[in-house]
Amino acid sequence: MDILCRSMLFEGKAIVTAIDCTETAERARQLHGTSPSATNALARVLAMGVFMSAGFKGLKHKLTLIVDGGGAGGNIIVCGDSGSKVRCRMDNPACFDGEGVRPVSEVVGGNGRLTVIKDFGLKEPYNGTVKLVNGSVDADFAYYFTVSEQLPSAIATGVKLNPDGSVAAAGAVIVQPMPNCPPEIIETLVDAVRHFGNMDELVSTHTPPALIEEYFGQFDNKPLQPTYPAYVCSCSRQAMERILISMGKKDALEIAEQNGVVEFSCDFCHKKEVFTKEDIERIFEEANGDN
Ligand SMILES: [Zn+2]
Repeated sequence: MDILCRSMLFEGKAIVTAIDCTETAERARQLHGTSPSATNALARVLAMGVFMSAGFKGLKHKLTLIVDGGGAGGNIIVCGDSGSKVRCRMDNPACFDGEGVRPVSEVVGGNGRLTVIKDFGLKEPYNGTVKLVNGSVDADFAYYFTVSEQLPSAIATGVKLNPDGSVAAAGAVIVQPMPNCPPEIIETLVDAVRHFGNMDELVSTHTPPALIEEYFGQFDNKPLQPTYPAYVCSCSRQAMERILISMGKKDALEIAEQNGVVEFSCDFCHKKEVFTKEDIERIFEEANGDN
């Protein structure tokens, strides 16, 4: 089971998060048929979605990450609901297939933007956009936190693939000092992160609690409640009905006439919803009844 562990360090002056999202990343690979290069990049953005939606509360809190870097993988979108329930899609999941594992920055591309939308069910969602630093994911999200959220952060994602391309391990470690954190503590934490070595190896050999214990255990480490990430899609037949209604009755019936039915497929889980001519008549009748 995937897990996200958090610990307060130095009496709450900093917080470390360690994530194992292996199963979530493997589910994404299976759903989207990603190539090894695409899996390697997508799993890192997914880990950041897991991290950023962990603290969300309630059904109305929604996270959207859009990485638009102009790389071979095209746009990557990760959505998250409270408790790190995430889903994702990418434009070109087959990029570099048969070419081993290409660098993350070639899949993501370093020439574009990272957009973060946090919708808390209020009037205006929070929307932060930064330029990508280099398309490595780690540096791009660290830059986003520093610039847009004033939270200087050390971020290390790790992904290890099996010979058949499936995900052996995926995860991340994020260290964020609180605003009152003294510079000498920040220096100590940056030093601890430097000692990680190869993060792709570390996520496959250490569980999140073991990783925190080994690298941060000596810093007055106080564990918080863990979160259990998973790949969960929020699509529904009702949501597809709303898309159908937005098409207008005439166009919907015309497509049903031509193709026998109107069919929608979810970009995030590939679930299909089929609407017959009778369904369409009924849906528009009910929609008009509501007005
Ligand atoms: Zn779906």
